[in-house]
Amino acid sequence: MRIAVVLGVIAAPLLALAGCSLSGGSSAVVDDNRLLQAASHPDEWVTHGGTYAEQRFSQLDQINAQNVGQLGLAWSAEFDTNRGQEATPIVVDGVLYTTTAWSKVYAFDAATGRQLWRFDPEVPGGRGFSACCDVVNRGVAVYGGKVFVGTLDGRLIAIDAKTGQQVWSTVTVDQSKPYTITGAPRIVKGRVLIGNGGAEYGVRGYVSAYDANNGSLVWRFYTVPPGPNQPADNAVSDPEIARMRATWAGDWSRFGGGGTVWDAIVYDPDFNQILIGVGNGSPWNQRIRSEGRGDNLFLSSVVALDADTGRYRWHYQGTPGETWDFTQTQPIILADLNIERQPRKVMMQAPKNGFFYVIDRSNGHLISARNFVPQTWTTGVDMATGRPIETPNARYTDGSFLAMPSALGAHNWHPMAFSPDTGLVYLPAQEVPFAYSNDAAFAGREGGWNVGIDFLSNAVPDDPSTLRAVRAMLKGQLIAWDPIRQREVWRVQYDGPWNGGVLATHGGLVFQGNAHGGFQAFDARTGAKLWSFDAGTGIIAPPISYRIGDTQYIAVMAGYGGAFPLSSGLVDNPRPMPNGRLLVFKLGGNTPYRVEQIENPPAVRVTSSFTAAQVERGRQLFETNCGVCHGAGAMSSGVLPDLRRRPSINDAATFKSIVIDGALQDNGMISFARYFSAQDAEAIRGYIASRAASLARQEGAGGGAAAAPPARR
Ligand code: CA
Repeated sequence: MRIAVVLGVIAAPLLALAGCSLSGGSSAVVDDNRLLQAASHPDEWVTHGGTYAEQRFSQLDQINAQNVGQLGLAWSAEFDTNRGQEATPIVVDGVLYTTTAWSKVYAFDAATGRQLWRFDPEVPGGRGFSACCDVVNRGVAVYGGKVFVGTLDGRLIAIDAKTGQQVWSTVTVDQSKPYTITGAPRIVKGRVLIGNGGAEYGVRGYVSAYDANNGSLVWRFYTVPPGPNQPADNAVSDPEIARMRATWAGDWSRFGGGGTVWDAIVYDPDFNQILIGVGNGSPWNQRIRSEGRGDNLFLSSVVALDADTGRYRWHYQGTPGETWDFTQTQPIILADLNIERQPRKVMMQAPKNGFFYVIDRSNGHLISARNFVPQTWTTGVDMATGRPIETPNARYTDGSFLAMPSALGAHNWHPMAFSPDTGLVYLPAQEVPFAYSNDAAFAGREGGWNVGIDFLSNAVPDDPSTLRAVRAMLKGQLIAWDPIRQREVWRVQYDGPWNGGVLATHGGLVFQGNAHGGFQAFDARTGAKLWSFDAGTGIIAPPISYRIGDTQYIAVMAGYGGAFPLSSGLVDNPRPMPNGRLLVFKLGGNTPYRVEQIENPPAVRVTSSFTAAQVERGRQLFETNCGVCHGAGAMSSGVLPDLRRRPSINDAATFKSIVIDGALQDNGMISFARYFSAQDAEAIRGYIASRAASLARQEGAGGGAAAAPPARR
C-alpha cells in the first residue's frame, strides 16, 4: 500500500515531463493513486475540486499577496458560444481540458494556449428547452488516458485524451424525458460517477456509476422512491424504498418527485464513501407533489453511499418536505477540523436554504449550522433534531410568502473554497427574495416547466424607479466564513447576485470573478482587494491554479449565464453577451486583451395592435412559461436576445414560425405547439409588444427598429 503511494508520487512528475514533449494531446494516464495524492502535486489540477476533498485550495505560492499586482494575461481563447461558462478546467501532463456551453470539450497546451483538439457532442439544440438554468457544463473528468463529459442530452462520453476522438458513449437517462446533464463527472476507483438535472420539469433523480473502461453501468442509486404502485427498480437503492416511501404521500411519481443529483458528488477516501448532494422536489410545491406531507426522502439532503457498492450509508436532510426549490446539491468540501479540541472529519456545505452546515462524515450527524445570509423561512436549526424551525406561512399555505433565500439560493452551484492556512471558507453568497404562492390552477404539462408556483406574483414592475428599488434588493457577497465558530470574518459586498466561484491559494490569496466581469484577487486574511482584471464579460465559473515548469498560472472561464441571468433582466446595463473565453494569467503576463462590447439595438417601435385582453392573456402565458429563460417581464440580461428589441415581434407570421413552428429550434427555442395554440402565441406577441412599447417610451426612441444582431447558439 505504502509502496504504491510512493510510486504514485514519483511517477506523476515523470509523466508531467513526458507530457510536455508531446505534440498532440497528453497521455493523461491519471490513475487512482494520482487522484488520491493530488494534494502532493499542486502543479496539476487533476480533479474537479482540485483534490478529492474538493477544497479548491492550491498549494502554489509563486503568486502571492506581495506580487499579485504584477499578474497579467498569459493567454486566452475565445469560444463559439455566448451562453454561460461554468466549467472548472482540469490540468494534467501540461494539457488543460475544459468544457463550454453545449457540452463541448477543448484541450489546450496549458503553457501556450495552443488548441490541441476540440470535441463537439452535437447536442440537439432543442434540448436547451429542458435545461432550467442555461445550456451550461461544469467540466470534465480525466482518467486512464480518457476525458469524460456528461452532455446536455444525457450522454456520458469517453474521449481519447490524446486525439480528442470518442472512445465510447452511453445514454444515462430516458431521453424521452426532460433530463439534462450539466455537472462534472467524478472518478472513483475506475468508475465514472454522473447525475443529472430536470426537477423543474418532472423527472426522478439518481446517480450512476459506469465502468471507465467501457461505459457499462455498475450501479445506480435513486434518490426518491418509485411511485406507490410501481415495482422496485432493481437498483442499489431498492433496500431504502420502504423507508423513503413512508415519507411521501399521494402519487408523487406523476412529476417524478425530483431529487436530481446535478452537481456535488464527492469521494471521501477516509470512509470509502461517496457524498452526493440531492436536489429539490418536482414539482417544487409540496402541496402538489406530496399532499403537503412528509419529509420526502432524500430530497434536499446529503446522502452518503458506499464507494464500492453504491449502497446507502447515512443522510442529512437540511430541508425536510422541501417546497422552495431548496436544493442541497451545492458543493461539498471535506476537511479535518479541530472542534472543541477534538479532531473531526467533517464535510462542509452551504446549500440554497442559507445554512452553513458542518457535518460529521463518519455518521452524518450535524455538528453545527448557522445562517450566512438573512432568512425569512426559518429561525434556525433545532440541534436536538437537526431540523430547521420554520416560520409561520413559510409554506405559503395561507397566501403568498416572501422568502429569503429563495429558489436562486443563498448560495448556488458556484464553488466555495477552503484554505487550511487561514481555516476559512470563502463563500460566494447572495440575497435574492422571491414571493411563493400556490398555483391553484396547476395542471401540469408533460415535459414543460412544472413547479406548481404562481410566477405572476413575481411580476417585474414597469416603471423605472420601482424597477431600481427591486434591483436594489438583490445582493451578492464573497464571505470569509469561520466554520468552527460559525461566523463571518470578512466580506466583499457586491451590488448584485450571481458572482463567480472561488479559489484559495497558499500564496495567501482568494481569487473570484464577478457578474460585472471583474476578475479579482483578495487578501485571504483581510479581504483587501489586491488585484483586478476586466474580463469584459461576467464571470461565474471558479478559477484554478497550476504550474508548468517554473511558472504558476491562474485560469478561469469567463462568460455570463445560468439561472439568474436567464430568468431576470435585473442586472446593470444589460446588453448582448459576447462569446465566452478562457483566461490564463501569470506574473508579468502582458498579452493584449480586448472584448468588443455589443450595443443593444433600440426597442422595437410597435406597429401591430392588440386588445387589452390579449395582452393580459399573453402576460399570464409569458410569465408562466417563457420568463424563466427570456427574463421576467421580457427583460433580458443579455444572454438570450431581449425580445423587446427583436423586429420579429412586429410580424405575426415570423413570430408564429418561431413559437409554433420551431424555426429557431437549433438555438434551443423549440416549437411550443404542444403547449400553445396560434392564438396563445399571438397573445404572447401582444404582451411582448406592450413591453417593447414601454421600453421605447423609456428610451425616448422615435426611430424604427434597427437590425438585430444574429441569433446565436
Ligand atoms: Ca431546482
